[in-house]
Amino acid sequence: MIYLNRDRQTKELKATSGFKSTVPNQKWRIYELNDKIKPFRLSRSKFSDYLTCKRCFYLDQVKGLKNLDTLPFTLNNAVDALVKKEFDFHRKKQTPHPLMKKYKINAVPFKHKDIEKWQDALSRGVDYINVDLNLKLAGGIDDVWINKDTKKLIVADYKAQSKSSEKKIDGYLEDVYHEGYKLQLDFYRYLFEKNGFEVQTTGYFVVYNATLERDNFKNKLEFTSDLVPYETDSSHIEEKIIEMKKLMDGKKIPPSTPHCQNCNYIIAGGKLINEK
Ligand code: SF4
Repeated sequence: MIYLNRDRQTKELKATSGFKSTVPNQKWRIYELNDKIKPFRLSRSKFSDYLTCKRCFYLDQVKGLKNLDTLPFTLNNAVDALVKKEFDFHRKKQTPHPLMKKYKINAVPFKHKDIEKWQDALSRGVDYINVDLNLKLAGGIDDVWINKDTKKLIVADYKAQSKSSEKKIDGYLEDVYHEGYKLQLDFYRYLFEKNGFEVQTTGYFVVYNATLERDNFKNKLEFTSDLVPYETDSSHIEEKIIEMKKLMDGKKIPPSTPHCQNCNYIIAGGKLINEK
């Protein structure tokens, strides 16, 4: 896929330097060593980048290299938005969603004054300021429920996919492409705990599967829905955040990963271009 750079507002093609903008109102995007005034905001997805490739994370956050844009997953986003409406309906009435009944979970969607903020993944989310590290860690959640027996919170994330009905949730947590999903719930649990909430270990993926077993499309996708329980673990997050901050404060650019298609594409392309 070849992405051309476009102005966000006008959609006109626009030359790019490959770096983030350094105009004054955009400076917050690049980490500044020794800036003790304002905590630097790091989202859950940047933390995930750190765990995937320290080099890319460093070049992006500390050196200001602009990440490649990706096209939005509009179909998945549509499912998320409609599912959210469903859960919001039950949040308002404080009734269990049918999936909670189906899976015998005595819970309701959690009603809280900050729920909209927590669900705003772009600029707000659940956040926590680590004063020692001067970092503001944040993550926009899909949902949070409350266990009616224990009063503990339950972290939940909506997922849309399309697999055959036998494979729709079989081995869901063992799938290598779902490793990042688990980190998501671990991280959300960590943030809620840092905000003083008690969070139950079992979180849930709410999986909507567009069925392939149909004869035609007829302008319609049909979904089945299931809950996949996941035993969250927030105990590993803090030490990794401390390591991440050490890296940000250092001057050494970490090595790249040999498995990355992007880096090796650039390196191989460079070799071809410089070939005599
Ligand atoms: S290997 Fe290279 S392109 Fe890939 S994630 Fe790391 S720095 Fe980025």
